[in-house]
Amino acid sequence: MTQAVLITGASRGIGRATARLAAARGWSVGINYANNEAAARETAALVERAGGRAQLLPGDVADEASVIAMFDGFMHAFGRLDGFVNNAGIVAPGMPLAAMDAARLKRIFDINVFGAYLCAREAVRRMSTQHGGAGGAIVNVSSAAARLGSPNEYVDYAGSKAAIDTLTIGLSKEVGAQGVRVNAVRPGLIDTEIHASGGRPDRAAVLGAQTPLGRAGTADEVAETIVWLLSDASSYVTGALIDVAGGR
Ligand code: NAP
Repeated sequence: MTQAVLITGASRGIGRATARLAAARGWSVGINYANNEAAARETAALVERAGGRAQLLPGDVADEASVIAMFDGFMHAFGRLDGFVNNAGIVAPGMPLAAMDAARLKRIFDINVFGAYLCAREAVRRMSTQHGGAGGAIVNVSSAAARLGSPNEYVDYAGSKAAIDTLTIGLSKEVGAQGVRVNAVRPGLIDTEIHASGGRPDRAAVLGAQTPLGRAGTADEVAETIVWLLSDASSYVTGALIDVAGGR
C-alpha cells in the first residue's frame, strides 16, 4: 500500500520541495496551504508529474476547526496517515523586540507555535498505536534561529522555533512506544520567498555567502533530510534536531 504524508505550507518553498521529493520516493501527498491556491495547484502538478497522488487541503494551521478539517480531509482522501510534516511558518519584518507590537507577536506565536502544536496533536491522534493508528513519522520544521536567537531581526520567530525544538524532544518521548517517531530539521539560510515576507528578498543570498559553505541552501536540500526522516531509512532516529544550515 502506498504511504501517505500530509505537509503543511506545501504551496511554496520547503513544503513544495518536500512534496515533490516525497512523491518521487513513492508517497501520496496532502498539500496544505493558507491562501495561495494557484501555487498549491502547481505543487500538486509537480507531485503528479513525480508519480504521486496529490490532494489539496487548504486551511489556516492556527485555527483548530481548520486543522481538524484538514486531517479529516486527508484521511478521507488517502485512508491512512504515515507521515506528517509540520512545515507552515511565517516571519515578519526584521526589527528589535522593543519595536514589535502585540499583534505581530501574537500572529507569529499563533501560527508557528500554537498551529504546530495543534497539528502535531492531530497527527498523533491518527498515528499512535494507543489511538488505534499504525504508527508513523512526524517531522517538525524548526530553524537555526532557535539556537542563534536572531537579534535585531526577529527574536519572536527564533523563540517560536525554539518551542518547536522542545515539542520535538518532549513529544518524541511521549509517543516513541506508540510507534511514532518525532524529529526536527533546522534549516539555515534557504532560498525561498519567506525572506521577502520579512522585507529582505536577498537575505539568504547575502548572509548565505558568509556561512562555512559560502552560499544559501536550496529547498530541495532541506527536503532530502525531511523525506529521509519520514522514511524507514531513519527507523532508529527520534527526538533529533538536525541542522541543514551549511555549517551556520
Ligand atoms: P515560504 O516560502 O514563505 O512558504 C510558506 C508556506 O507556509 C506557504 O505554503 C504558505 O501558504 C504556508 N503558510 C503560511 N501561513 C500559514 C498558515 N497560517 N496556515 C497554513 N499554511 C500557512 O516559507 P519557507 O521558507 O518554505 O519556510 C517553510 C518552513 O521552513 C517555515 O516553518 C520556516 O520557518 C522554516 N524555515 C525556513 C528557512 C528559510 O531560510 N527559508 C530557514 C529556517 C526555517 P500560502 O502559499 O497559501 O501563503
